[in-house]
Amino acid sequence: MNTDCIFCKIIAREIPSFGVRETEHTYAFLDINPVHPGHTLVVPKQHATDIFDIEPGSWSEVLEEVRALAPSVQKATGADGLNIIMNNRRSAGQLVDHVHIHIIPRFENDGLHGFPQHPYQDGEAEKMLDAITKTLA
Ligand code: AMP
Ligand code: ZN
Repeated sequence: MNTDCIFCKIIAREIPSFGVRETEHTYAFLDINPVHPGHTLVVPKQHATDIFDIEPGSWSEVLEEVRALAPSVQKATGADGLNIIMNNRRSAGQLVDHVHIHIIPRFENDGLHGFPQHPYQDGEAEKMLDAITKTLA
């Protein structure tokens, strides 16, 4: 446990939360400031700051719990769809430095729009691919 971490405190029940489900290695609870009601966060019990820090086994447990909870969140909220989102580091919108995956109910015409996207320029995709694959072990 990281004693400065708000989600570690939630897991330890030092701070209250609306717990959805607890498993051996994960905890799921309602986001206190939801995009839509039912917006749920799934966290590993073992503290890790982000995708660059988490142990593979802990990550697998979190992902499996997201998969297992998704139909319940969808049915309970009547959502037309779900976004499964993780923010990593401040530049990507991460505010709490304990790994968490958002399960966000979405509705047709709810007015929320995704990221702006742009096609690659000529030759740019090949260069990017080369840069990424060079870093792979
Ligand atoms: P992120 O920006 O990905 O780091 O998301 C952090 C999320 O944690 C936000 O959606 C907050 O609303 C949520 N949050 C912060 N404090 C609490 C809390 N005490 N209980 C439940 N959710 C929280
Ligand atoms: Zn923590």
